[in-house]
Amino acid sequence: MWDQPAPELRPTVRPNAAGMDLAELKALVAALGESPFRAGQLHHGLYRMRWTSWEQFTNLSKPLRARLEAEVDLAWPAIQESAASGDGSTKHAFLMTDGALVEGVHMPYGKRTTLCLSSQVGCAMGCTFCATGLMGIKRNLSAGEIAGQVVAMLNAHGHGTEEAVNLVFMGMGEPLHNLDNLMKAFALLTDPKGLGIAPWRITVSTSGLVTGIQRLGACKPRPRLALSLNATTDDYRSRIMPVNRVWNLEALATTLETFPLESGERITLEYVLLKDVTDSLEDGKRLAAFAARFPAKVNLIPFNPHEGSGFEPPTEERVGELCGLLAGRGITVSVRRSRGQDVAGACGQLVRERGKA
Ligand code: SF4
Repeated sequence: MWDQPAPELRPTVRPNAAGMDLAELKALVAALGESPFRAGQLHHGLYRMRWTSWEQFTNLSKPLRARLEAEVDLAWPAIQESAASGDGSTKHAFLMTDGALVEGVHMPYGKRTTLCLSSQVGCAMGCTFCATGLMGIKRNLSAGEIAGQVVAMLNAHGHGTEEAVNLVFMGMGEPLHNLDNLMKAFALLTDPKGLGIAPWRITVSTSGLVTGIQRLGACKPRPRLALSLNATTDDYRSRIMPVNRVWNLEALATTLETFPLESGERITLEYVLLKDVTDSLEDGKRLAAFAARFPAKVNLIPFNPHEGSGFEPPTEERVGELCGLLAGRGITVSVRRSRGQDVAGACGQLVRERGKA
């Protein structure tokens, strides 16, 4: 369960440079008896150039490259399989060194690209609407495995080093259940000498792990926070999201009221609309009251229908009514259409197709 730490990846005997920060790279080059400035060259190659094999490290001498080849792994998560959707998004399955698979999605929106990332293999939270939740928790992803999904997708889709991308942790796993590795990955991703992604472009979506929210609030810098809310009554939320039995809506609102936000920053509330289940006008009013307690913006997500879910998407008319209701109460609201539905890349669908195979 989520109150127990998830297992970690067991390190291999050979060191793996992919995912090492500058301090670890310094220790690595010291162990190899090389000059300390080599660590900066390795860091540049790994995170600025996004090189994935030692032979690409043309900033190093040939003998050093040969030595690294012989003694040090450079093992980023590898894209094992990809499925392109008609809407332009691409779902990727990433193979980890221990054979575990996680999935991420590349979503271009005009000039803007968003990458949806996984933080764990499986998930302990057990949300009933989510295919990943059915897997249970297998293990945490390491920082390198998290950042490596970004490296792999940026390389596969040919993004330049200066191109801005947004990252959302809405794939497999509860990111705040793996906060230490997540924050180490965050440091790798935001390092201006490396991948250089602006901290505010990274959003972590939680199911409502209050202790994790509090720990995240104490981190500086930190990613933006989103809450996957999905229900406006404790009765229903506890049924679809077991975490609500431990921290109910009042506990969540109280925690979010004290979450230290920067000027202009808001917490995103994600709310999946299920026809005749969570899309009533009364739900809309309760949602507005919840969102009014702290700086928030609401993201309404019409449900992605999938076989066996037992749920239906809301009518367009109801989506419009709820938007009007929230906006009328001064709440910023947007509607998010899930991407990649035809390749099972939308939230909660990531492992469904594989599970069926
Ligand atoms: S919705 Fe998120 S937190 Fe819930 S089971 Fe799925 S991956 Fe885990």
